[in-house]
Parts: sequence; C-alpha cells; structure tokens
Amino acid sequence: MQKTSGKLFVISGPSGVGKGTIIHKLLEKNPNIKLSISATTRAPRPHETDGVDYYFISRDNFTKLIKEDKLAEWAEFSGNYYGTYYDTINNTLQNGYDLILEIEVKGAMQIKNKIPSAVLIFILPPSFDELQKRLTGRNTEKTEEIKQRLAIFEDEYAKSFEFNYKITNDNLDEATEELQKIISREKQN
Ligand code: 5GP
Repeated sequence: MQKTSGKLFVISGPSGVGKGTIIHKLLEKNPNIKLSISATTRAPRPHETDGVDYYFISRDNFTKLIKEDKLAEWAEFSGNYYGTYYDTINNTLQNGYDLILEIEVKGAMQIKNKIPSAVLIFILPPSFDELQKRLTGRNTEKTEEIKQRLAIFEDEYAKSFEFNYKITNDNLDEATEELQKIISREKQN
C-alpha cells in the first residue's frame, strides 16, 4: 500500500504566549503529528535536554550547517541562531507523519516561500499586558531578555497577516481545540 505524505504546519507566536503548552497538548492526542527538533546556539535552560528540546550546537557548527545547505530555514533571534533541518522535514513527511515547526516569524516566511503547501498558524496573547505578565511569571529569562522578546513581538505581530490562521490563547483548552480543528480541516484538503 502506498503511504500518503504528511502535511507541514508552522506555528509562530511570541515567547510566553503558550505555544509550547498548546503544541504538547495537541501531540498527546495525535500520535501521527511530530514536532521538529531545531538546532540552536542558545544555551540549554535547566530543564532542557539535548536532542529532545533542541540540538544545542556551537556557532561554528551552526555556520557549517548553513554552508552545507542542511537547513530549510534559519534565523537569528535575540542574539542566538535557530534552524530547521531539511532532513527532519523530508523524512517525517515521507514517512506519512504530519510535522509541526515551532519557529519564529522570519523562519516561517522562509518556509512559506519554499514550501507553499505549508499551513502557517500564529498564536496571539489576549493582550500585550498579559504577555508581559506571562513572560515575567515563567522566570526563564532575565529582565533585559524579556524586554527584548517583547520588542520582537511587536515586529512579529506586524507580519502575522502573512499567516493562514490566527489563534488567541485566552484559554488553553479552547486554543488547543481551535488548533486541532484547523489541523483536521487542513488534512482534508
Ligand atoms: P526559545 O529560546 O524561547 O526556545 O525560542 C526563541 C524563539 O525561537 C521562539 O520564537 C521559537 O519559536 C524560535 N525557534 C525555535 N526553533 C526555531 C527554528 O528552528 N527556526 C526558527 N526560525 N525559529 C526557531
């Protein structure tokens, strides 16, 4: 029997909006959807594991990946590099799984150009104040870093019209449900 190839979903949104939580809730219920593991030059946070959350690599190795054309997209975010391996996209989709890339907006735009069939979804906070509260509350970044991430959000928001869908994360279960519906609908197309 011939396997049908999977679909690519790109999910962006500001740091602290709850993308990670929504995606993990979705993955629990959908074994056919995989999450891409990116390469990054950022240092791991205390709870993060190499090869699970990211591939944590040096700047030299990241530059090598770019030169060898191993990355489908990459971008600098808040002083660090992040990128998606071509191999992850190709292997996952060819094996019939759907794939989620949880990436920032510059990378999302590169995917949109290279892979027009990709579905782009932007997750919004209920308000800027709420985002600031969530970012401060999660205690993973220092004050300067939080300020930088909030400033990036203003730029990213300006690009959110390029996305196919927008979801406001006011309530975690409702936002996850909305994402589930979008994915199910897109799978039928
Ligand atoms: P964090 O440092 O909070 O893990 O991620 C910072 C930002 O980088 C987030 O917006 C996240 O979605 C984005 N990001 C993670 N992996 C990639 C990637 O492979 N490519 C791009 N362009 N952005 C990524």
